[in-house]
Amino acid sequence: MLVTGSWAAPTSARGFGVLVHGGAGDVPADRVASHRAGCGAAARAAAEILARGGSALDAVQRAVEVLEDDPQFNAGTGACLDESGEVALDASIMEGAGARAGGVTILPPFQHPIAIARAVLEDGQHVLYASEGATEFARRAGFAPSTQAAMTTPAARERWEMVRRGDPEVGWAGGTVGAVACDARGSVAAATSTGGTTNKRRGRVGDTPIIGAGTFADDGAGAASNTGHGEGVMRTCLGYWAVEAMRAGAAPDEAARRAIEHLGARVGSRGGIILVDPRGRIGLARSTATMSWGAAWAGCPDVVTGI
Ligand code: ASP
Repeated sequence: MLVTGSWAAPTSARGFGVLVHGGAGDVPADRVASHRAGCGAAARAAAEILARGGSALDAVQRAVEVLEDDPQFNAGTGACLDESGEVALDASIMEGAGARAGGVTILPPFQHPIAIARAVLEDGQHVLYASEGATEFARRAGFAPSTQAAMTTPAARERWEMVRRGDPEVGWAGGTVGAVACDARGSVAAATSTGGTTNKRRGRVGDTPIIGAGTFADDGAGAASNTGHGEGVMRTCLGYWAVEAMRAGAAPDEAARRAIEHLGARVGSRGGIILVDPRGRIGLARSTATMSWGAAWAGCPDVVTGI
């Protein structure tokens, strides 16, 4: 099953558009409303920044922070646990004007991994910091560490125990989060944050912190945030692939559909993608049962959500 969608955001010089996702997965029926509400709140926070002339970069960071704070998503607080029963967080962010980017991987508990990724982007010396080095960078940049206890939810622990027992992962909501936005100047940005996959091996790095895989942005073409089977997304460089499809002329919804088809055909993986182009048009596709999302654009009366 492949599901796609697009929304006509304004194309005037004063237009903006933002689209966020709450992860490719299979959200159980009793959690659909709260997943959609969570994505709606994140899209609203981003739209407030964009409506007062703020940058796409600030908007995607804020949207992802809102989702990292929401314990139902697999990012920040509530992130899934690795094989040693601990959170190990991945995040990245990119802006399309100057191709600046930042990321962290295998980060121990910090409340907002995406804010640390943003600090990496602003610092500019390197693009990606891992593990202890990421911790050192974060501390030097002024971020206070959190704790495993504060960031581990009972639901994440329960799912970890289920997976370790070998029970099938029914109703796994996915819950990686991401955002893409285009601001009133026509600049785009993307951000993605996750705990990765439940019971992942220690040292595993997924697609989320990898520029060109989980996250990509280029003002000449558009921006992408991915979710789903990270190894497949990395092997297809899917974020870059989808943005290049827009550069070649595909509208965001068409590029999203093609990217998710490519992910399945090339490496047999499933997932979801959100896209924005420099005109503020947005589009998405998924091949999983669900991917919650929220969207807003200049002139829309309120956020729109779906799953
Ligand atoms: N792509 C993420 C990872 O592999 C997981 C997800 O999006 O559900 O780390």
